[in-house]
Amino acid sequence: MASGKSVFEAVVGRLLFREVTTLEIRDLGRSFRLVGFGGDALRSASWEAGDKIQIYLPGQGMRTYTPMTWDADRGTAELLVYIHGTSPGAEWGRRLRVGDRWQLFGPRRSIRSTGPADPLVLFGDETSFGVARALADAKRGSSVRCVFEVNDAVESKAALAELGVSGTTIERRPADAHLAATSERLLEELDALPSAALVMTGRAQSIQLVRGRLKAKRALRAGKVKAYWSVGKTGLD
Ligand SMILES: Cc1cc2nc3c(=O)[nH]c(=O)nc-3n(C[C@H](O)[C@H](O)[C@H](O)COP(=O)(O)OP(=O)(O)OC[C@H]3O[C@@H](n4cnc5c(N)ncnc54)[C@H](O)[C@@H]3O)c2cc1C
Repeated sequence: MASGKSVFEAVVGRLLFREVTTLEIRDLGRSFRLVGFGGDALRSASWEAGDKIQIYLPGQGMRTYTPMTWDADRGTAELLVYIHGTSPGAEWGRRLRVGDRWQLFGPRRSIRSTGPADPLVLFGDETSFGVARALADAKRGSSVRCVFEVNDAVESKAALAELGVSGTTIERRPADAHLAATSERLLEELDALPSAALVMTGRAQSIQLVRGRLKAKRALRAGKVKAYWSVGKTGLD
């Protein structure tokens, strides 16, 4: 028998959430799944590149993802799930099948693309490939430079190529030793695009370290800092 909590969540969910169906799943290597989804509920939504959605995982709570594309006329959208382990969001991505129905909240503002011609430098990791794709599309690909820290550069490069996102990938090293090179690479990108805003996403601890290094070397233009996950914490929004 359904518990009182799950009945309550189901009722509230019908009022608050948009219901969608999985339309397409494409594995990009072992760790990434591109999920195409759709439904009438997406037609009425107002979405901009960088906005987030929260996916309702019954019994687990909400997990946050970034639509890469959103076609309100057709009522379809796409996102990329990074399968980082066996936690609820990663398991949801791993087990998802075409035809599955699920609920989401949003879209809501997270990172807003500046004007289409304004350049942008993006720092992130595997969880940021989706936002990179969305922002690059919004800027027609011309002025977004990306630097990603990743676990597996070969797999990440292949996924990025499939997504049509160009960027530098730097593999993680024990004790965050790779973040010195990551910071240097970001400084090079900022020097090449002096008017660029810096957007920092991904792991909270990396953002803090890299941002400290960058600030020690140069004044940073106002940008956006948004941690996507943090070691030991669950379900950041
Ligand atoms: C605004 C926003 C947009 C996001 N967009 C995307 C997106 O488009 N695609 C995407 O894949 N993710 C995205 N994320 C990140 C995603 O929400 C988190 O990785 C989330 O923790 C996944 O839920 P989970 O149930 O798998 O892990 P949780 O239950 O939340 O966490 C379990 C454990 O896993 C760790 N963990 C969480 N994420 C990672 C990771 N990437 N690598 C290693 N360990 C991790 C946590 O620290 C914790 O210890 C976004 C997050 C935010 C806030």
